[in-house]
Amino acid sequence: MIVMKFGGTSVESQEAIARVTKIVGDHSHRRPVVVVSAMAKTTNELLDVGREAAAGRREHALAIVHRLRTHHLNHALQLAGAGAADLERYIRTHFEWLEELVKGLSIVGELSPRSMDAIASVGERVSSLIVTFALRAARIPVQHIDARRVIVTDDRFTQAAPIFDQTYARLKEELSLVARSAVVVMGGFIGATRDGQTTTLGRGGSDYSAAIVGAGLDAEEIQIWTDVDGMLTADPRIVTGAHRVKSISFAEAAEMAYFGAKVLHPATVLPAVEKNIPVVILNSRRSDAGGTRITSETMPSTNPVKSISSKRGITIINIHSTRMLMAHGFLRRIFEIFDRYETSVDMVSTSEVSVSLTLDNTENLDDILRELRTFAEVSIEADQAIICLVGENIRHTPGIAGRAFSVLNQNNIRMISQGASLLNLGFVVADSDVPTAVSALHNEFFSELDPAVFD
Ligand code: ADP
Ligand code: ASP
Ligand code: MG
Repeated sequence: MIVMKFGGTSVESQEAIARVTKIVGDHSHRRPVVVVSAMAKTTNELLDVGREAAAGRREHALAIVHRLRTHHLNHALQLAGAGAADLERYIRTHFEWLEELVKGLSIVGELSPRSMDAIASVGERVSSLIVTFALRAARIPVQHIDARRVIVTDDRFTQAAPIFDQTYARLKEELSLVARSAVVVMGGFIGATRDGQTTTLGRGGSDYSAAIVGAGLDAEEIQIWTDVDGMLTADPRIVTGAHRVKSISFAEAAEMAYFGAKVLHPATVLPAVEKNIPVVILNSRRSDAGGTRITSETMPSTNPVKSISSKRGITIINIHSTRMLMAHGFLRRIFEIFDRYETSVDMVSTSEVSVSLTLDNTENLDDILRELRTFAEVSIEADQAIICLVGENIRHTPGIAGRAFSVLNQNNIRMISQGASLLNLGFVVADSDVPTAVSALHNEFFSELDPAVFD
């Protein structure tokens, strides 16, 4: 059995879903469980619906709902063949439900994380139905499963964490048998608490759903179908000539994802690593492009750097001890504050009297600063970015940092860190320097390519 996850762009239109039907059909002998994202841009629009409704702009919120409904109907119905009338009814029911929610929210004037998840879930609930009907119309035996029946999570709405033992038990109960005789289709990104409240796993969470389903069902392989040929040596929106990485280790892929390679959700690899299930990234527009295979082993390569990631919109916090030397317990006090505000820190560097660290989530920044200032001098620098060189061989190759510095000499490097994992080397630069810095690093480290690992 395999898991096939299709991202938003892979189900963005009638043509895209027709390609999905073909790809799933080609793999039907491997007994796929299909996990789908919402149609591209839908989740963003749904979140706008929630915000507009709660801000009292009811008519605008309803206009977005109607636009979304039309878009879904336009792209879905022809795919459904004889099922078109049933599918239309389902789609309309979901959007009617959303309309009612909008009306309620605009009266209450408040958007709780719980309502946000209820609204956001519509994207995957509908897209998974559309794909189910498209497969059925293509005469592929198929069964739709509501993800909320199997993905059990805690109640941290908008960022819910799966409760693995219960989820795995439900997956086995609900899916194992069905998946033997039919392609199972379910929405990614969404789940539910034990008492049935709808939750979401965080933005980009459909990859995570795929990994959870794969791990729970002991899949042979987890395929992540997207709009690029695989994991590339850099973000293709920044570097036009980025190359496909044919194979990469779990550790490297996790590092890339964490430091900004949007192609994979950072948490995805964990459940797959634990069960040693290979993850393959593939292009739904070019199904024969080869993809990237993520496995537990590292392929030896003459290129020490496998990829360059960048995470933008970072804030640096500089914390100076107000005593001459850093007092005992200073770091503990600092990190306790971040812990309390559930704010994770990406990079840290310390000296005798100061600590600098980076955040990407500034939601609680004001409170954090207020608390830090009770015992330290604090300054912040916004609009920064982390650039990370990732590769297991960085640690065994002398001179990588020197080469990177010589290339980055035009850019003001604000922080440097070699992660404890030793497979990344990170720099913080001004966000506006990212395009030139990443391109320059890419020229430096990928002018020659090991054909065993890169395409
Ligand atoms: P999906 O909707 O299929 O989940 P995403 O938009 O989440 O797709 O992720 C795919 C995108 O990730 C690509 O279109 C690409 O722009 C971006 N990306 C960023 N860094 C990388 C990288 N190193 N390799 C490949 N893609 C990357
Ligand atoms: N639709 C969700 C999002 O846009 C989840 C995903 O696509 O992975 O964040
Ligand atoms: Mg994604």
